Amino acid sequence: MCRYCVKWGGGTKWYLNPKNYSDEMLKSELTKPKLEDTMAGDLLGIKGTIQEIMTSVQRFRYDIGFGEALDAVFPDLHDEASKAIRGALPDLVDMAVGGQAVPLEDALKIVDLNEGDIFVLPCVCRKYYGGKEKLSCMFLRPAGKGLSESLGPWDKPNKWVSKKEAKEMLKELDKEGTVHAVFWCPAPIPTMICNCEYPICIALRARLNYDVEDTFRKAEYVSEVDPNACDGCDGTPKCTSRCTFGAIKYSPTAGKVSINPFQCWGCGVCRPVCPHNAISLSPREEVAQVKDVW
Ligand code: SF4
Ligand code: SF4
Repeated sequence: MCRYCVKWGGGTKWYLNPKNYSDEMLKSELTKPKLEDTMAGDLLGIKGTIQEIMTSVQRFRYDIGFGEALDAVFPDLHDEASKAIRGALPDLVDMAVGGQAVPLEDALKIVDLNEGDIFVLPCVCRKYYGGKEKLSCMFLRPAGKGLSESLGPWDKPNKWVSKKEAKEMLKELDKEGTVHAVFWCPAPIPTMICNCEYPICIALRARLNYDVEDTFRKAEYVSEVDPNACDGCDGTPKCTSRCTFGAIKYSPTAGKVSINPFQCWGCGVCRPVCPHNAISLSPREEVAQVKDVW
């Protein structure tokens, strides 16, 4: 289990611990960290509580531009100022906001654990980087309530959906191959389920382009392929293109695929396309090679 599960899981995964969805947790001091108390907040000159900042984050696209903000933070890998800011980000992410990949079945459990309906907004990353509007950011409470009350009439489309509708949306997004992720904000409160694509997702960009590890962590799982069940789809493997992280390789000699556990994020989106159910997920903690690789 990851360090978040150890610290906040209460014997299970942190995002499946009902306590982290409770009123008691929402009212606790953990929900009130101030950005100016972090080195990153200090360097960026941002003030306010984490919740205040995140409640308005969806409006960045209309105000200063979410992507422009990222580009300002990461203008150049070798730029001294950006290096200093990046160096301070893990401290901010650890306490405040970050995400972790989850397979569909865990995303569905998160929906069940959330109290009440779910507020769905278009993905700010797709809007900014891809020019596409897609209702794929699913806000849990209290972020959903806070966001719905703060949005202006121009912040459309958005909608509240029932748990049943949210689950159907997740299943459709899974068919499309998006990487599901649960975000905390602040830790350890699960705040939203995102359905991400690289290179459009801002958090995946921060992780894969700039190596800010905790912006997007690997799942609590790793996938494995059963070599007896895999027939390589007769030379045109269906699973390889589903993997955002390049973990699945096809061997023409063997006529099968293999999965590199170091590259696998455990998102699980490769599984449904396999005609022989040859791919399965194992708990990361049970795979010795990568149990500490996040
Ligand atoms: S191989 Fe791993 S990272 Fe790639 S799609 Fe499958 S579960 Fe996700
Ligand atoms: S989709 Fe299944 S059978 Fe086809 S190459 Fe991948 S693991 Fe093998």
